[in-house]
Amino acid sequence: KTLKLMVTGGAGYVGSVCAARLVEAGHDVTVVDDLSTGHADAVHPDATFVEGDAAEVARRLLGDGFDGVLHFAAKSLVGESMTDPAKYWEGNVLTSLRLLEAMRDHGTKRLVFSSTAATYGEPESSPIPETAPTQPTNTYGATKLAIDHAITSFSRAHGIAAVSLRYFNVAGAYGSFGERHTTETHLIPLVLQVATGDRERIQIFGDDYPTADGTAIRDYIHVVDLADAHQLALRHAAEGEHRIYNLGSGTGFSVLEVIEACRRTTGHEIPAAVAPRRAGDPSVLVASSERAGDELGWKPERTDLDGIVADAWAFTRSRRNA
Ligand code: UDP
Repeated sequence: KTLKLMVTGGAGYVGSVCAARLVEAGHDVTVVDDLSTGHADAVHPDATFVEGDAAEVARRLLGDGFDGVLHFAAKSLVGESMTDPAKYWEGNVLTSLRLLEAMRDHGTKRLVFSSTAATYGEPESSPIPETAPTQPTNTYGATKLAIDHAITSFSRAHGIAAVSLRYFNVAGAYGSFGERHTTETHLIPLVLQVATGDRERIQIFGDDYPTADGTAIRDYIHVVDLADAHQLALRHAAEGEHRIYNLGSGTGFSVLEVIEACRRTTGHEIPAAVAPRRAGDPSVLVASSERAGDELGWKPERTDLDGIVADAWAFTRSRRNA
């Protein structure tokens, strides 16, 4: 069935890929983005684009027969969230609250929210199930967790069918839609910047973690698998319920393994240097996505690390040649 959907943050990395896949699946998509970190040319040409604040635009437009909202718009720099918390409580929590109020007032029935593994903080065990304690170690994770709580209340009180998807490390690209942050902090795009010559070397943040090679392990999920999960979440969302799903490929790769994969894919030697640990970085973050498998029928298909890196690399090169 074709749905009329609002995609907040649809000019950003994950939002632009999800919006493109939704458009291609035949849905009527309106992208809302204030372009504070997104890019207008990352909006799929067949989506309607409205520039502005997610909550204000939702208040103005949701009455126009929208079946649901996919809410990606957020501030997402962990370091910045520690030095400028107001920006995160304001930009993430208050904006989301106003968005929920607009949904309530307009009777919008479905919501898929971009939550994060950062809601769990330093895990007690691995892989992490949705029942793990939520003890975020940074403000970014705390604001996403606060929004998850607000969504639970609103879904119960107002019959909204809501799903929060807790992403682990999103990577890869979908053709011309990919990761292009002005302030880049993520491992794979930074390593690829070394391969293009835009960066001299990659810093390895800590080589004394209790892992096989001493570097930290993360669960890298391909952005297209993630986009597929959003479509399944929309379909399976149930009125008055707020469901939470962890999304990862279920396999962890170390920083060194990622750098090696980038070396293989790019043919570049990619100099690396060991640097101190980054504050607040857990040693291992791997998702248990069993619940998403059981309840949504989701199965990540693009789990090969070299394949993920190859897609990111193709995107990086096409942008440089554009
Ligand atoms: N990392 C690194 N060097 C960098 C950037 C990241 O060693 O220049 C490490 C980081 O410490 C973490 C992993 O790579 O263990 C993934 O970091 P990223 O920022 O991509 O995602 P996070 O896991 O923090 O969400």
